[in-house]
Amino acid sequence: CDSTQPSGSGPAMTKQELLRYENDDFSWSTELEQNLKDVFQLSKFRPLQLKAINLSMSGKDLFLVMPTGRGKSLCYQLPAVCSEGFTLVVTPLVSLMEDQLMYLKSIDVEAVSLNASSSKEHAKMVLAELTDSKAPFKLLYVTPEKIAKSKLLMSRLEKAYNAGRLSRIAVDEVHCCSQWGHDFRPDYKLLGILKRQFPKVPLLGLTATATGSVLKDCQKILCVPEPITLTASFNRTNLYYEVRLKDSNSDDSVSDISALIKERYKDQSGIVYVFSQKDAETVSADLQKKGVNASPYHANMNPEDKSQVHRKWATNKIQVVVATVAFGMGIDKADVRFVIHHTISKSIENYYQESGRAGRDDKPADCIVYFGFNDIFRISTMVVMENVGQQKLLTMVDYCQNVDRCRRSVIAVHFDEVWDDEGCNEMCDVCRLPSFMLNVVQIVELAGSLDEKLTPLKVTEAWMGKGPAKRRKMIQTTTLSRLEVEAIITSLLLQGYLSEDFSFTPYTTYFYLKLGGKAPLLKNQSHSITMKMRRTGLDANTVSTTQQTVQESFRQEAFGCISRD
Ligand code: ADP
Ligand code: MG
Ligand code: ZN
Repeated sequence: CDSTQPSGSGPAMTKQELLRYENDDFSWSTELEQNLKDVFQLSKFRPLQLKAINLSMSGKDLFLVMPTGRGKSLCYQLPAVCSEGFTLVVTPLVSLMEDQLMYLKSIDVEAVSLNASSSKEHAKMVLAELTDSKAPFKLLYVTPEKIAKSKLLMSRLEKAYNAGRLSRIAVDEVHCCSQWGHDFRPDYKLLGILKRQFPKVPLLGLTATATGSVLKDCQKILCVPEPITLTASFNRTNLYYEVRLKDSNSDDSVSDISALIKERYKDQSGIVYVFSQKDAETVSADLQKKGVNASPYHANMNPEDKSQVHRKWATNKIQVVVATVAFGMGIDKADVRFVIHHTISKSIENYYQESGRAGRDDKPADCIVYFGFNDIFRISTMVVMENVGQQKLLTMVDYCQNVDRCRRSVIAVHFDEVWDDEGCNEMCDVCRLPSFMLNVVQIVELAGSLDEKLTPLKVTEAWMGKGPAKRRKMIQTTTLSRLEVEAIITSLLLQGYLSEDFSFTPYTTYFYLKLGGKAPLLKNQSHSITMKMRRTGLDANTVSTTQQTVQESFRQEAFGCISRD
């Protein structure tokens, strides 16, 4: 690489100029459209795909940042089909490569591969085809090791390049180049050779998770002087984000998880991510004991068992896979309704990626993480040898610890995305809290209009759906725990949305709840009501001591796990 090259900002292409690439009046546009339908059997492009393809077809170097499952592969597969010669695709895992080859075969696109498990004969044949102008393949998949270690491959590519047959280079999971990324792979560091040897071939780097600084690093490593970067929004609008606290002393998160799976996610497909192989076995066994159709999955199982679990889950014969992060790349099940983390991820990027396996079909799905104090240090010792491992872990801790920022805003900030709070639409536990609070006020209001007086206990029961059937029909009930419900009522009292209504008899004084002085403000759409909520599965003892501390600091906080109907 020429280290004097300016790095960073990419070429001076204005937004206006970039807009041009969303058009379909290029010389290749008709062919693209036709192959999209006929070969790939897709009716239309998804956001950013056409722009990325047009830029790449125009010979521009490009970094495409797009969440997993949105269709990055099409952005080099379709150009490959519409170009002379072949496209070189670098991909990190043999399993990913095989998935793609199988898919391409199924749609009659010719592709070949070279990796550590290729036989000698196969490798020989592929290498010979590289320089054969009549060879029909459109894509050559290789692992980065091959580029780094096979001189023969490089010299054949050189020949193909000189003959004008190397039409494009795609580097999948491009963040693997950078030590600052979450999945650094040493062989990726050597891929700069591609752009040095084949400077005229457009390069397309693809990733689901790379921040600006990681991309800058990749740009340097790959020796692409001025790539254009296209970034799709990270906001997965259909995912509901939630954090639940886990008590390190008496962890009953597995009971909580099994209750969720049996009630809220009855007959729905999901993943429970755990910290270790041992946890995968024990949590899976515990869930099975509680009647959940679960199976463990981790790297230490034999390959047949792994693929059997994967297959059974993919065909809904297993409801839940209890897995380490080994259950990851290559998972392409659209109807995953929940991804529960029994232990926090090692970084927010990892969490985004793992939880992002939920709701690929764009229908609502939940991402719940259990946050326990001890887990921070279990993970900390695991990532101790990783570059910036601790720093990254703390981004995840911050996501969980946060009680007053929208979960999405925390994620967005992390991905350098400009965030507008409206973008959540109450699809995270923090943003949904005001609606919960409003529900309680409405119950008290309804009682008032019926000339009924409700004690705090009656309000609690009414909201939890334990009141008379007649009333249940008229209100929005909740699945929050009693502790949470009590905390919310307390907060409403503190904030003046509810107030005390005493009633005196000769023998005793009754306490009822009525609307507080601030209640009318709630009629105003733009009035916002807030509360900081601390979620836990604390037992009675710890609650009282913690409550005391909170009272001392006069903070409006609540206890218990937020859940939703
Ligand atoms: P990524 O690499 O971004 O994780 P993939 O390229 O593997 O995603 O694509 C994920 C899924 O989306 C695939 O099943 C693919 O067929 C599908 N897909 C891609 N583009 C489109 C499109 N324009 N319309 C419908 N489905 C698409
Ligand atoms: Mg991909
Ligand atoms: Zn939110």
